[in-house]
Amino acid sequence: MRDLPGTYVLVMLARDPAIVTAGALGTLQIAEGAYLYAGSAFGPGGVRARVERHARADKRHRWHVDYLTAVAPVIEAWFTHDPRRLECEWLQALGAIRGAREPWPGFGASDCGCSSHLIHLRRAPVVDTFRRHLRRVVARSVRIGVRRYPDVPAAGPGPVSSSR
Ligand SMILES: [Zn+2]
Repeated sequence: MRDLPGTYVLVMLARDPAIVTAGALGTLQIAEGAYLYAGSAFGPGGVRARVERHARADKRHRWHVDYLTAVAPVIEAWFTHDPRRLECEWLQALGAIRGAREPWPGFGASDCGCSSHLIHLRRAPVVDTFRRHLRRVVARSVRIGVRRYPDVPAAGPGPVSSSR
């Protein structure tokens, strides 16, 4: 993962149900299981800076997904440095995974036509499952990298990956 623009998926794990108040979205009932969020980073620091921010537990809430990472830590990030903004088609591929549901309309999708940019699954899928669905959604292949994060509970011993 480099300081270059690109598209990413955050894989977040909620070990226990939780309720959070998320600004304009209101109250979110978080279920146990995996939440997958598709985003892109075309600003300074690119994908690396953005994903490492998402993976930090302590931060000011700026995006919808920040409310979620506070209780469902990022355990894995899938990414590409392809110069195209691929987050919407990546979300389509995530939504095609068996058992996927979109829990909250509008979540993370204020700038595009998608119904949301987040799905919930009972278990976190492996990246190969995502790659397989992505090949079906788009008729070309994109190289996808993986970064794993230490799997610690949300209330654990502080940020796990704050260095850039
Ligand atoms: Zn979209």
